[in-house]
Amino acid sequence: MKEQWDSEKIQYQRQTSADLIKHLELFCTVVMKDDSRCDSCFLSVSTNLSQTLRTRQLLIDFDGGRPILSLRAPPDLVNFPSVSRPRWPSECEVISDTIHHIEWDPPEPEPFYQLTGCERTPMPARKDKGKVVYFTDHAMKHAYFTTSRFGGSKGPIKNATYDISESDLILEFESRFESGNLQKVVQVGVYDYELTLRTDMYTNKHTQWFYFRVRNMKAGETYCFTIVNLMKSNSLYSVGMRPLLYSERAAKEKGVGWQRIGSNIRYYRNCNQDKNSVPPTLYSLTWTFQFPYDSDTCYLAHCYPYTYSRLQNYLRCISSDPNVASYCNLRVLCRSLAGNDVYVLTITSRGASKCEDRMKKTVVVTARVHPGETNGSWMMEGFLDFLLGESEDARLLRDMFVFKVVPMLNPDGVVVGNYRCSLAGRDLNRNYKTVLRDSFPCVWYTRNMVERLMTTTDVVLYCDFHGHNRKNNVFMYGCKNHGEPALRLRERIFPLMFSKNANNKFSFKSCRFQVQKSKEGTGRIAMWNLGIKNSYTMEASFGGSTLGDRRGTHFTTQDLKSFGFHFCDTLLDYYDPDPSKVNYCLTELSALRRDLGIDSEFSVSDLETRYSFTVALLFKVDCEIFTHILYIDMCLIGSKSISLLFNQSFFINNSFLTTSPLLMSA
Ligand SMILES: [Zn+2]
Repeated sequence: MKEQWDSEKIQYQRQTSADLIKHLELFCTVVMKDDSRCDSCFLSVSTNLSQTLRTRQLLIDFDGGRPILSLRAPPDLVNFPSVSRPRWPSECEVISDTIHHIEWDPPEPEPFYQLTGCERTPMPARKDKGKVVYFTDHAMKHAYFTTSRFGGSKGPIKNATYDISESDLILEFESRFESGNLQKVVQVGVYDYELTLRTDMYTNKHTQWFYFRVRNMKAGETYCFTIVNLMKSNSLYSVGMRPLLYSERAAKEKGVGWQRIGSNIRYYRNCNQDKNSVPPTLYSLTWTFQFPYDSDTCYLAHCYPYTYSRLQNYLRCISSDPNVASYCNLRVLCRSLAGNDVYVLTITSRGASKCEDRMKKTVVVTARVHPGETNGSWMMEGFLDFLLGESEDARLLRDMFVFKVVPMLNPDGVVVGNYRCSLAGRDLNRNYKTVLRDSFPCVWYTRNMVERLMTTTDVVLYCDFHGHNRKNNVFMYGCKNHGEPALRLRERIFPLMFSKNANNKFSFKSCRFQVQKSKEGTGRIAMWNLGIKNSYTMEASFGGSTLGDRRGTHFTTQDLKSFGFHFCDTLLDYYDPDPSKVNYCLTELSALRRDLGIDSEFSVSDLETRYSFTVALLFKVDCEIFTHILYIDMCLIGSKSISLLFNQSFFINNSFLTTSPLLMSA
């Protein structure tokens, strides 16, 4: 056998990889016939191969005598530093304070602000009036991104605040930390401040997100903050959304975290814009509030912050759990423009052969392409918490699917506190078709990964998690599958099921299924064009819900996380081997379409009106039966790995129910 190997190895050196496999197969045929065939023989072949090709990366395995070549998984590719120090554009000044917020859920959902109609519009201060109490100009120094450094600027941090003593009634502002974005503050009255946000770096647009720190406050006094350079023409702040406040003393002494605050909330178009100024038109958000303690450290934000460092801590935690590591592989997909790692997780149960793995359906989930939409990260964390957990449903999902997950597509934007763009000054979610790998690495590599996956596996669903600034509730944007009769309405089933699983937070009415030319560069349409029929963005409102028993209340971090769980739950419903749930939804969608007398297109809003009516009719049955069955469903079954076989199926209160359930093992 040794002589045979020696002669073979000369051949190997001249082979391409395809020829190499062919050659190895031939060789193994010989080996298989050889009486001396044994594990040590295979090991020797493998070792010899490594030596001959001078690589330790190539692995040779034998499956029933057939050689299978693969690349060795690189060890410890992901090294998390003990102290998280993201890379910043090198002109950015960054304070060294470590910022940590506790997680906390209010005991009761926090209500929207009720508009009184008497909210005043503060008179904007004249340019020469007021006292500048905070100013940072780092964003204005360069027109475009050049280099990055760990921790930002090398030089000493400049004093950005007015020289304040404790006796002064002047607030001390700061935002030169991860995801902070305050540029300037002017004190225009004893307790009145005008705030200017930094635009997305290397652009003059996209202000919406805000996050900053305040000190030197007086408890019990009513402060008025007005952010004067917002750029969206309308906002949920006009219909009751309230800003968030975090008090370090409240966290330390009472264990209370981010809370909704504010009265006299108004969102309005600025009236003092210079007629000669170039667009964009600017808008203001104003609110009054009180700080809970004197001399506290407080933070204010548009939505619950979720930084790149927090993601790294989370990933460090899951990758150090040997149990989780057995079905979750963490790698670096690519590096961002600033050189921050973009992570990708592969989650699936192990044990099956590679061929069996390839038979599994693949689901691709991404988040945080828009850095100011922190809701996306909270949903992602809820999704990962559930999928990596111990529950039977999580196990079933890992057995059924291979999940490819990119939890933060735009780490640079998150680090510097952008709302929409990467450091290229562009919206990455309009650049999925790019060929400029080096300018848009995060989306280029994501698309490339999906393209490669599609050559070997069946990628059945793509979903990108976002936050929405103008509509309440959670909803999805999908892509209408034209032409193919078998696929008609299919793209609407998953969102419809989701709305039934989270009926007091998810609005099917707000879903849209259009493929607009102007949105061709989005992840959703790019993946759909690659052939993924169920391709969505999931949008969670910055506000809250207008539905059911949660009507008029804000979303908490737990709510946002629960959408990650509901996403998993809906996947199990959609891919249940028993097709009754899918058929139920399809029948409902088809019937409504027919009822409306519309052949090829119908308005989802119309659908919703009729849908509610249909559901109302269906539910004109004794509620006690449902309550009873719901009890059985939740307490006795508690898992989608056991499915219900229906005589007649209905959805109610997060569950598929039946009037005569018959338990059946899936
Ligand atoms: Zn978005």
